[in-house]
Amino acid sequence: MGLMLLKKALQDHDFPAKAVDIFLQTGIKSLYPPQAEAVKKGVLKGKSLLMSVPTAAGKTLIAELAMARAILLHNGRCLYIAPLKALASEKYQEFKKKFEPLGVQVGLAIGDMDSPSRYLNRYQIIVATAEKVDSLLRSKAKWLLNGLSAVVLDEIHFINDGARGPTLEILTTRIKQLNKDVQFIALSATVKNASDIAGWLGAELVHSAWRPIPLKEGVYYNGQIVFEHDGTRKIVEEAPDEVSQLTLDTLRGKGQVLIFVGSRRSAQAVARQVAGSVAKVLTDEEKQKLQALSKKVLGSSRDATKICHKLADCVKHGAAFHHAGLKPRQRELIETNFKENLIKVIGCTPTLAAGVNLPARRAIIRDCKRFEAGVGAAYIPTSEYKQCAGRAGRPQYDDYGEAVLVAKSASESATLFERYIQADPEPIYSKLGEETALRTHLLASIAGGYVHDVKGMLEFLEHTFMHHQQEDPDTLHIITEIFDFLEREKFIEKSGYRFFATPLGALTSRLYIDPLTAITLREGIDIMTEEARFSPVGVLHLMTCTADCPRMSNIGKALYEHIEHFATDYHEDFLLTPQNSALLDDFYGYLATLKTTWVAYQWIEEEREDKLCDFFNVGPGDIYRHTDSIQWLLYACTRIAELMGKKRLTFDLEALRTRVRHGIKEELLELVQLKGVGRIRARLLFEKGIRRLKDLNYVSKDELAAFPTIGKALAEDIKKQLVARKELRPRASVDALVTENAGSDEWVE
Ligand code: ADP
Repeated sequence: MGLMLLKKALQDHDFPAKAVDIFLQTGIKSLYPPQAEAVKKGVLKGKSLLMSVPTAAGKTLIAELAMARAILLHNGRCLYIAPLKALASEKYQEFKKKFEPLGVQVGLAIGDMDSPSRYLNRYQIIVATAEKVDSLLRSKAKWLLNGLSAVVLDEIHFINDGARGPTLEILTTRIKQLNKDVQFIALSATVKNASDIAGWLGAELVHSAWRPIPLKEGVYYNGQIVFEHDGTRKIVEEAPDEVSQLTLDTLRGKGQVLIFVGSRRSAQAVARQVAGSVAKVLTDEEKQKLQALSKKVLGSSRDATKICHKLADCVKHGAAFHHAGLKPRQRELIETNFKENLIKVIGCTPTLAAGVNLPARRAIIRDCKRFEAGVGAAYIPTSEYKQCAGRAGRPQYDDYGEAVLVAKSASESATLFERYIQADPEPIYSKLGEETALRTHLLASIAGGYVHDVKGMLEFLEHTFMHHQQEDPDTLHIITEIFDFLEREKFIEKSGYRFFATPLGALTSRLYIDPLTAITLREGIDIMTEEARFSPVGVLHLMTCTADCPRMSNIGKALYEHIEHFATDYHEDFLLTPQNSALLDDFYGYLATLKTTWVAYQWIEEEREDKLCDFFNVGPGDIYRHTDSIQWLLYACTRIAELMGKKRLTFDLEALRTRVRHGIKEELLELVQLKGVGRIRARLLFEKGIRRLKDLNYVSKDELAAFPTIGKALAEDIKKQLVARKELRPRASVDALVTENAGSDEWVE
């Protein structure tokens, strides 16, 4: 069997010479076997295709070629749907580089920093997250369908994800239904039941375990790694513990290491644990660079938290940890410097493997058990191990990758072989049957004008993956109940035989919130206006009681006592009580709302970030993520209050939202209107006597520049802003804000 040459494949399919040149410039000459199979199965003739292959087997090239064909040969437009914002941005950059020289415009729609929706028609390729596409479909965006000829579904195995899977499934079904001729190019990790998904999409299937870089899988026990096929390796390095020995063994051979552990705390601990060994192999130049990087990680010392200090300490030695408690900027620093081989080792939880493309020569999977509430320590799924293992082997740098599980006994060693190395990943299943997902999407379908009755909804569901997988799911019963519920709660109403969204239903759908959230907010608004009550703590607590609010649930003994006091001090402020909220009737649910409320409250009282992190035992990334959800829910609450005609209340809610966004007391509301001025700078200005924007007229540019943390450039910019501010900005439209907030990348661990 000969190799399939890229050039020939493109010429055989009539690609223009310029396009052939550009694809050849990437240095790729012949296609990898799974790519060749994809071409043989007709992906360059417009056939739909599912590629279920390991990481780095070249899925992206196939997607690019299919898009190029659609655009250059058939004048079509393409949509590339990625599961996470970070992955979408990465692809956007890649496609821009490759496609713009061909005169193809590439746009990005992920929520923030978007190409504006109304201009989406300009682009021949739009890279978007599933949530964003879903929200555009809700506002009946025509661009999704006019001339859309190819849709890439990246990482379609996310359909199995309880939280985001249903959205991906619904929008795929919707596109399929509205645009029968569209070509799907679905990309997936290797999954056992790939043929199910292919069948659902009406797609050809390429299912292969082929890897460009061979992967050796093995178990480490008692001083040696036993590989499944490749013999054994004795670890002779001297280091204080097994993981450090395994790490050093790889570093000596100029490789990098990822260490997967069960919790954030372990990720931090393991990075620290191996740091001493890592430091042994660093060159002087690397040490210097790492010192500088360590300073960068720390940022300005004023807001450096304990976690920052820990991270900065590890980084000095060439090790790091990575988890959702870090700020996005810190995570990015770690990722870039790992890719550049300055950081040698990362300790992380398996979620890293799903969300970030960071290969290393050796992936050490230290913990195969994870603590789960109600279950205790449970083995992680095989698919999760495979994700982690799949990160082993850096293209262009490593000749092979190694995935090493760590066993504590001979019998565990046998178990690990059986459970992980020799086992197939679990099949993936539709998660659409869950009521939350159906409720939200049913309302969206009615509000979007796609569905008008039970029968219509059932017909639509017949085209879903759920239906494809299950002979006869009992949806009639559950759908009827949801219709009743939505009608009773006034989200939809009947006109003749057809259902339509009420203004509240339409708003709820556009706001991208669960109808249950809207009900909770409505109830809170009623109480606030009837009893003329408005306290920041009370309103924050209301937000934490909604179905869409992520809550902080780990509460240790020491914190528990404090929280009890907090509850006693503020119980009169709370709008909802166990009598009118099922969530609060559950003790743990109640505690979680309190902790989250208290963090948010301290945040708007300008408590320092490091203090918050220590006291509440959270990371800065958590504060950022939770306050961001709360400010978004406050926005939703404002809009619902407005719809209910509670004009006065909307002002108070809006002000509180700004306080949460910036983490400020009320008195700083005016100063943070300036770009570049956040909680810290606004406070410094305030302390210098600048309390209102007009006070700045009495300070010269140079004086302003001399203020701590301001500097020349910002001073100049502030002065410009003051001139420009003579005009009031028009208010942003709901849709702009909704899409700005729809979907978030964060993984809650
Ligand atoms: P996946 O999306 O399957 O994880 P990628 O598409 O990112 O993998 O490909 C991994 C790497 O392999 C990329 O750097 C890509 O440029 C390279 N690559 C893809 N196809 C080929 C090929 N046929 N020959 C050589 N390198 C290739």
